[in-house]
Amino acid sequence: MKSIDKETRDYVYRRDQKKCRICGTPLHEYGHIHHLYHRNGILPVWAGIEHSNHPRNLVLLCPLCHQKLHTPPAKYAAYWAEWREKAILVNIASEYEIPVEEIFKHREAINEAIQKK
Ligand SMILES: [Zn+2]
Ligand SMILES: [Zn+2]
Repeated sequence: MKSIDKETRDYVYRRDQKKCRICGTPLHEYGHIHHLYHRNGILPVWAGIEHSNHPRNLVLLCPLCHQKLHTPPAKYAAYWAEWREKAILVNIASEYEIPVEEIFKHREAINEAIQKK
């Protein structure tokens, strides 16, 4: 697997305002870039993520949160699954400069429509 190129890395740092996406700690060169979907796993087609190093699949984390995220207690599995989905929506929102609330509303509308079926 290719490593994340500098352009993508710089983009993620800029998009995430050099802060940890979980705790908000300011990060400079010591941030970790985390893959929301594992590089060897199935990537979410709905999000337009074609390869795991796509910026929509990446978030900036501090080393501590990164470690926690990789060793989550089983009881938090559902929480982290939702967090991951929201993180992708946040990434798409900033990519297209759409307010995050708008994109969340849209996602809720889609979920409702699916449930009504
Ligand atoms: Zn953190
Ligand atoms: Zn990671």
